[in-house]
Amino acid sequence: MAKTVFKKIIDGEIPANVVYEDDRCLAFLDVNPQAPIHFLVIPRTEIPSLASASDSDRELLGHLLLVAHNVAKEQGLSDGYRTVINIGEDGGQTVPHLHIHVLGGRRLSWPPG
Ligand code: 5GP
Repeated sequence: MAKTVFKKIIDGEIPANVVYEDDRCLAFLDVNPQAPIHFLVIPRTEIPSLASASDSDRELLGHLLLVAHNVAKEQGLSDGYRTVINIGEDGGQTVPHLHIHVLGGRRLSWPPG
């Protein structure tokens, strides 16, 4: 299978504006931001989507959420922010590598489109 764009970022084959990384995950700015602050948190392990995560990913999923919050704090999102995980076609997922969107820096409307 061809490498996803996120795997290429993990492997350093294409550049990204990385705001956080550790041995399990990476957070980087979205190339097409939908809010003043918009970054993605991705696991280094290739999990195609939340739908394909399993019990063995429990710890990792918790870690990704805590990283999302810590980086949001570092980015100054003290008035709140939104996390989004798009899943599959109806969910609007375009990159088949699990990722958490973190959006903030403006008042976000609800419901999303
Ligand atoms: P999805 O639609 O799968 O939930 O979100 C994929 C996100 O990845 C989109 O917001 C899109 O802008 C972002 N994205 C796609 N390609 C790249 C890239 O090469 N670099 C970065 N930084 N973001 C990307």
